[in-house]
Amino acid sequence: MQKSVSVPRHLEKVVEAAREARALSRAPYSGISVGAAALLRSGEIVRGANWESPSYPAGVCAERSMLSSVFASGRDAVIEAVAVTASAEGADMDISPCGICRQSLLDAQNMQGTPFEVIFRYGGEYVVLDSAAELLPFAFCKI
Ligand SMILES: [Zn+2]
Repeated sequence: MQKSVSVPRHLEKVVEAAREARALSRAPYSGISVGAAALLRSGEIVRGANWESPSYPAGVCAERSMLSSVFASGRDAVIEAVAVTASAEGADMDISPCGICRQSLLDAQNMQGTPFEVIFRYGGEYVVLDSAAELLPFAFCKI
């Protein structure tokens, strides 16, 4: 894990894509717009945003929205980095993936067989993990 006050240069594009993805957010209940983006080995960037529902459990987090776009398209995608960003009332805020998304990100990493970086802002600094496994050290199971 590394921490810095600025986004490492090689992750700037994916973090910016995650910021842009927040425009796709539907968050009438929490007021927190979350954007996620994956940088694929092909160079393509895939975005996702949170989508809240009046039936709360039916909502989807930005990370799982993004993962669905990556894998449901049938592409042989390999994720190299994931960025997660959030804002409330237009201002950037700290965020880290929720427990369900930590499991889903780890599942995606285990399925592809190679680790990917994860970046998010927490405590006012950017946290960069070398592997999604760092999000969930005692994972439920390895698939
Ligand atoms: Zn989540």
